[in-house]
Amino acid sequence: LRWIRTVSPGIKLRTDNDGACLFVTDEGCSVYNDRPTACRYYPVGHMAIREAGATEDEARYFLVKEDHCKGHEEDREISVTDYRKEQQVEQYDQINREWMQLILKKKSAGPSIGRPSDTSLQFFFMCCYDMDRFRRFVLSDSFKASYDMDDAFYSTVEKEDLALMSFGIRLLKQILFGDETIAVKPGAEEKRLKERREIS
Ligand code: SF4
Repeated sequence: LRWIRTVSPGIKLRTDNDGACLFVTDEGCSVYNDRPTACRYYPVGHMAIREAGATEDEARYFLVKEDHCKGHEEDREISVTDYRKEQQVEQYDQINREWMQLILKKKSAGPSIGRPSDTSLQFFFMCCYDMDRFRRFVLSDSFKASYDMDDAFYSTVEKEDLALMSFGIRLLKQILFGDETIAVKPGAEEKRLKERREIS
């Protein structure tokens, strides 16, 4: 993975010097069962559009025709609905929608919010892309001392990646944008600030 520092933080899969994916082999995709959403959709392109006055986004799909995609030569017709089912994209779309809401929050805040600090970017990276580290963080004593979560929550995020990813997006919305949906233990913030003052 390569960490890209542009206007909005993001990562992209590394490629070889010719621009080819590092997971492609003579036998095909070596991570087929875990391939990313874009690979599942291809050669179907998709975008979300919100009409003026609407409160919900609407998905739009289109066919991408490129010479290297030999699938177009096959004699097979399939609807977008059936193709999405076949490619099992729904759970990927769900988490991507939550993630896009987070990114749109940053974009819609405009320049007033300023450039995120390095610490915020690192935190964003951990919550979105480094699930092993984020899981250790959520299960740590310091997290438990700060947030008021029950045992069922900890046992779910310990085992379930999707629940952990979803929680990461919620936590980012709270910490970066003040969307308070996670209960903080009384006095936790003051305690943390006091500890920081003692260290510095
Ligand atoms: S399907 Fe995606 S992850 Fe797999 S080899 Fe192709 S580009 Fe790479």
